[in-house]
Amino acid sequence: MSDRTIRIRQAVTNNLDHLDLDIRRGLLVVIAGVSGSGKSSLVFDTIAAEAGAELNETYPPFTRNRLPKWTRPEAGSIEGLSPVIVIGQRRLGGNARSTVGTVTDTWTYLRLIFSRLSKPHVGESSAFSFNDPSGMCPTCSGIGEVVAPDVEKFLDLGRRLDEGAIVLPGFGEGRYWYRKYAELGVFAVDAPLGDWPREHVDALLYGGRWAESLAVEVPKDYEGVADRFERIYLRTSETVSERKLKTVAEFTRSTMCPDCHGERLNAAARSATVDGRTVGELARIEIPELRDVVARLGRTEVASVAAALLERLDAMDGIGLGYLHLARATSSLSGGESQRIKAVKHLGSSLIEMLYVFDEPTVGLHPHDVAAMVEVLCRLRDRGNTVLVVEHDPAVMACADEIIEIGPGPGRDGGRLVFQGSFRGLLDSDGPTGRALRAPAPTTPTPRSPTGWATIVNARTNNLDGVTVDIPRGVLTVLTGVAGSGKSSLAAELSAQHGAITIGQKPVSANRRSTPITYTGIAQALRRHFSRITGAAVGLFSANSDGGCPVCKGLGIVYTDLAFMDVQETTCPTCQGARFTAEALAHTVDGLSIADVEHLTVSEAIDRLAEPAIRSRLVHLDRVGLGYLALGQPLNTLSGGEAQRVKIAKELRDAIEPSIYLLDEPTTGLHLSDTARLISVLYDLIDHGHTVVVIEHNLEVIRVADWLIDLGPGPGRHGGRVLYTGLVDGIGDTSTGRALRE
Ligand code: ADP
Ligand code: ADP
Ligand code: ZN
Ligand code: ZN
Repeated sequence: MSDRTIRIRQAVTNNLDHLDLDIRRGLLVVIAGVSGSGKSSLVFDTIAAEAGAELNETYPPFTRNRLPKWTRPEAGSIEGLSPVIVIGQRRLGGNARSTVGTVTDTWTYLRLIFSRLSKPHVGESSAFSFNDPSGMCPTCSGIGEVVAPDVEKFLDLGRRLDEGAIVLPGFGEGRYWYRKYAELGVFAVDAPLGDWPREHVDALLYGGRWAESLAVEVPKDYEGVADRFERIYLRTSETVSERKLKTVAEFTRSTMCPDCHGERLNAAARSATVDGRTVGELARIEIPELRDVVARLGRTEVASVAAALLERLDAMDGIGLGYLHLARATSSLSGGESQRIKAVKHLGSSLIEMLYVFDEPTVGLHPHDVAAMVEVLCRLRDRGNTVLVVEHDPAVMACADEIIEIGPGPGRDGGRLVFQGSFRGLLDSDGPTGRALRAPAPTTPTPRSPTGWATIVNARTNNLDGVTVDIPRGVLTVLTGVAGSGKSSLAAELSAQHGAITIGQKPVSANRRSTPITYTGIAQALRRHFSRITGAAVGLFSANSDGGCPVCKGLGIVYTDLAFMDVQETTCPTCQGARFTAEALAHTVDGLSIADVEHLTVSEAIDRLAEPAIRSRLVHLDRVGLGYLALGQPLNTLSGGEAQRVKIAKELRDAIEPSIYLLDEPTTGLHLSDTARLISVLYDLIDHGHTVVVIEHNLEVIRVADWLIDLGPGPGRHGGRVLYTGLVDGIGDTSTGRALRE
């Protein structure tokens, strides 16, 4: 039936090569393919973008302005879509009011239960909401923390007043406020603050408030430095400028709210109990324990609410999130944890015929937890939804109704349909994924010998149980263990105790002007090369400088801000997207203008640009598997895994001193066939004398480690211990050991 199929014709977004594709609705479909082959371009930038844009169009412009923005994909036609829900790895963000409980709705259920059953009886469920005035702690407004001035940072005790002893902005020498303090005649202007009697320093800070009890006389209307700071920066109701926010962040610290001790609720809500426990206590115990409390409410008037809550809690436990507690701030969750949390929320949805889109849902999951995640995907499908999943893990592919492989290569060598069919069919197919799945497991190399040891002593971050462990230097160490067992915490300790260089997956830059070549320093060499050969000034070859198109300021696009409409992004009419002035483009080297060079991929540039200063740096980008990137592609369009590899490429060039490198799941976004290449890059770092420590679940990487540190046995307080440390071969009966043997 035609209306049961998503029909895509002539899709050309990013690298898609006039792709025609039919996807039957109501199935669990895995999109596979090598990194950069066009999976995200298809699933996110084409299918989800079209569905989102069409849905937005059904709203009036005023509402539309408040909805997420979708850029219309480039395609001939797309039919058969339904509303889309993207469950990606974007972190849940820094909103201080968002907790695991609020985003999964479990907190709403718990509040309902308390509003009916608690003693003393309090009333409405809003009385237990820290986002509602009737429930929130009045001292911290439901945040659980208060911002206090960090007065130690206000003053530089080594300086005199006229030397800028007050380091808060605006109090400097010669300024109005400095003179006001100095002219009082109370403070010793010719001595550094450190030589003042303590009460003088206090009077400077707190003035009128404290002065009476001090042997210091200051005028009645005198306002101390700290008082003034609090009034202007902390107790203001005005909208605060960017600069002010920076000052606040610099000169304050967050401390636990003295009133609610972080529970966020007012006194009435904090003291009410159900089954002898307060809501604050229940928010701080781990999911399985909370589950048992809720299960005992099955025969009460809230039985149906309790049942709904139980279902959510079981789902969370099932996908390896049992170690969390409801009060945990979502801003502290990893990308993988955030994605799983979002999935739980949708499990409770009764909407059907939706289109769910996931981005590598197994990131951060031990092989042991992958089955539960697949179960979640299947349940969403079984409710009558279509589930599209970008994924590299064969265990997920094996459970899918259909696999679609995009490829065969990355960038311009990809963007085509390579395979569509069952997992069995994929195993027999001739594309990169089929071949990689058939390839025999690589033989384990002989482990290298450490060149020394870095000892982590008595680590107690988060759930770590006073761990003392030796990290071998000069080899590849892999940290393993189920999600929440303490791997990141141990890595943080390693960094704190030995100063490791962390190469994470955070975006390299949010700036549209950053590209792989500006970040790795190639752009500068390129400009000098162009200048030397053409005789023109270096600045002419920079889009951010003289050479940039004046209309779009070298961005290649212009933004039009229409009232009540979306901000429109259009190609710059003057330079047609080339970003450079006609004068800059007129100069060519080997037949290429500077804009032509930015359109080359890394691999093409290696072939065409002979200049050693340029080529020697490009090879590092190629080395980490990014040969398909265009030199001028904005870094803010890269995925987390790609961004991490750009950073590795930069380190391959920069690092000279032997260092400790720390990487969190570097195989994220990598196809099976790319993993071998990543491993050889890690080996490269080791060959240069560095120490490499990675957190990984990928069995291929674990197998080639020189040294293993396995944490566990469980998550949260059931983990935090070292179960095994040594050669890969020697690991015993832990979840990691079992996964390796399977
Ligand atoms: P995958 O998801 O398979 O790793 P992508 O769809 O992200 O691959 O990328 C396919 C190709 O399109 C790559 O060459 C990538 O660099 C390029 N690309 C992705 N996003 C953009 C963008 N916003 N602008 C330009 N090129 C892009
Ligand atoms: P892993 O890296 O093995 O998944 P983590 O080191 O991230 O594990 O977490 C170990 C434990 O510490 C878990 O119980 C986790 O919930 C807790 N934890 C991690 N980060 C924080 C944080 N910022 N605040 C509170 N608890 C945290
Ligand atoms: Zn409080
Ligand atoms: Zn322009």
